[in-house]
Amino acid sequence: MSTSKKLFGTNGVRGLANVELTPDMAVKIGLAIGTFFGKKNLLLGYDARTSGPMLAKAVTSGLTATGCNVYFVGMGPTPSLQFAVKNHKMDGGIIITASHNPAEYNGIKVIWNDGIETSHEQETEIEKIYFNNKISFAPWDKLGELKELSDVNDEYASAIKTHVDIEKIAKKHFHIVIDAANSVGGLITPYLMREIGCKVTSINANVDGTFPGRQPEPRPESLGDLAATIKAIGADIGVAFDGDADRSIFVDENGEIHMGDKTFAIILKQFLLKNKGATIVTPVSSSTLIKDTADAYGGKIEWTKVGSVTVSQKMKEINSKLGGEENGGVFYGPHQAVRDGAMTTALLLEIMAETGKKLSELVAEQPQYFIEKGKIECPDEKKAALQTKIYEQVKNENVSTIDGVKIWFNDKSAILIRASGTEPVYRLYAEAKKKEKALELVKEYSSRLKELLQTI
Ligand code: MG
Repeated sequence: MSTSKKLFGTNGVRGLANVELTPDMAVKIGLAIGTFFGKKNLLLGYDARTSGPMLAKAVTSGLTATGCNVYFVGMGPTPSLQFAVKNHKMDGGIIITASHNPAEYNGIKVIWNDGIETSHEQETEIEKIYFNNKISFAPWDKLGELKELSDVNDEYASAIKTHVDIEKIAKKHFHIVIDAANSVGGLITPYLMREIGCKVTSINANVDGTFPGRQPEPRPESLGDLAATIKAIGADIGVAFDGDADRSIFVDENGEIHMGDKTFAIILKQFLLKNKGATIVTPVSSSTLIKDTADAYGGKIEWTKVGSVTVSQKMKEINSKLGGEENGGVFYGPHQAVRDGAMTTALLLEIMAETGKKLSELVAEQPQYFIEKGKIECPDEKKAALQTKIYEQVKNENVSTIDGVKIWFNDKSAILIRASGTEPVYRLYAEAKKKEKALELVKEYSSRLKELLQTI
């Protein structure tokens, strides 16, 4: 049987519950993961989705059938479950979550013993076991056991407190609004923030797997209630989590929503002031703002392909202590080299306390860029040839082909041209100091790509 079939996407197995991801598949995925680990101790938990308990029981059946012991945690943010894998010296973990996808989706994410998602190579091994039916069933008297682990969310919150100056934060009596997306983001952070001296107002904090409050992807168009609440009650800051609370998007005291590049740059600056010459990890899709900040404060950047697993793996490989993504993922290595919404919130409050500046002021002192996006249609089978052709045209520029083609120009503008992994399109992301310039770049490279496509 073919082994080129795919089960895992960029972030675990993902699909529509009971349509693309069914309980019988989940049993088999559990069998494959259990065979991959081989009679080990594995943690298991889920986010707030309605299909979570159903899929967790199916995965448990598969895992215990291969002789793995399952330590069931129940509901928790992805970073809390990842922390528990490491903290409880598990051999690995499985998290049932579809992160930012709508309520009808779910997914299965596999975690290694250090709390970081398994590498894409390890996922390929699990896929081979799955598609080739190389399941290793345990005999009836050596089946895995189902146990329970409690208190992991409290342990995670306690660990976060050790990484920030909680007395300094407490003195400021910040008023924070937390938008938990009706998911696991409401389980820990509201309590953690109160414990470190903040006044907390929560919205969408009731756990409800139908996500009635807003879509679990923290995009500006979904965060109007958060912005309005901050202004109405005069809060200092607001944070919105995605469905599994590993990503966080912040809103300032004026109700302005700031995408992840800006908050990551604030954290990066403070990190470099305390860690001179450090190397940080970020995907090539990140704003030039990240490069400007690293240059200004003596940091080095290791660019990666787009995807949080790749960022985590690179941090592990080079022992980097900080990573970040434009979508609101910040990886703080001293805690754990994975995206972590609660940790990011604590770091940002610490910076506001240390500098005495409001979030709007911290953003305003950064270099400003305008971002414009575009896309052109391109059949999947022509994607590779098109990338080769466009690279031929621009190879003498300051260019990277780590993921798609990224060109940095001398006037601080840049463009990333990248084939979509899921649709027959090429996407263009341009940024520049002036809006017109960013628009012009999208226009110029869209027509270049269209012309080249004619020749393929
Ligand atoms: Mg997520």
